[in-house]
Amino acid sequence: MSLCQTNQSSCGACCGLFNLDYPHQKLRIILNDRTEFFLKNVDYKKKETVISFREEFEKKESVFPKKDTTIYNCPFLGYIDSEKKRIGCMIHPIKTGDPKSQNFSFYGASICQSYDCKNKERENVDDWEKLFDLIGLNEYQYSMLAADHIFVSRLEEFFLECGISKKAIFQEYEVLVQKILKWKLENCSPHKTSFEIDMETNVNTSKLQKLIEYLNLKPSDGLYMELTEIALKFTTDRH
Ligand code: SF4
Ligand code: SF4
Repeated sequence: MSLCQTNQSSCGACCGLFNLDYPHQKLRIILNDRTEFFLKNVDYKKKETVISFREEFEKKESVFPKKDTTIYNCPFLGYIDSEKKRIGCMIHPIKTGDPKSQNFSFYGASICQSYDCKNKERENVDDWEKLFDLIGLNEYQYSMLAADHIFVSRLEEFFLECGISKKAIFQEYEVLVQKILKWKLENCSPHKTSFEIDMETNVNTSKLQKLIEYLNLKPSDGLYMELTEIALKFTTDRH
């Protein structure tokens, strides 16, 4: 399995789904429509059916509101399991048996297969994947975490600044990190893609402050206090 498709969930952020400016329930309906139509009308041996699927859905979805109008939303992202819980590429070579089948898409097979988001490139990607799976997330929640490399960097940088190793994040601090992930899902705006650029460059802001701002934490929040205590303990231990 991989960060894109784990044992428990799946991510579809880089295929543009979450760039559509709709709530989760509406996105599920869109995915369902694509999947049902694809299953009924596309026969990969008849190439024209794949082409007309793309044309039909690009036209239909061209009126959908987008968060970022420059980002493409690929209609080949649909449900790839019978229970309709797992999202993925409906023209992936595993499905079609053709290594080049994603050439029917806007990006083309080489981009679809070689793109790795920044979280997928992390050396400790397996630790993050296991931790996300532990929480039991649906595909929407999972994508909001798996694709958000800025958030994961903020989190890792905070712990590193407090002298806590990346390994320890998944051991002694696992419960706290789970709490932070759940907070993020409940209190932060939905993530769009995995292409975002971290615009925060102020070197004078502490990693604690950057994490607090990213999570929209207020001083009265329990999590704010927990994070501050860890940072304070580190400062005290150093002196
Ligand atoms: S955003 Fe990252 S984790 Fe999500 S599907 Fe794309 S490469 Fe995989
Ligand atoms: S064709 Fe490419 S962009 Fe489209 S769903 Fe498949 S992997 Fe994503």
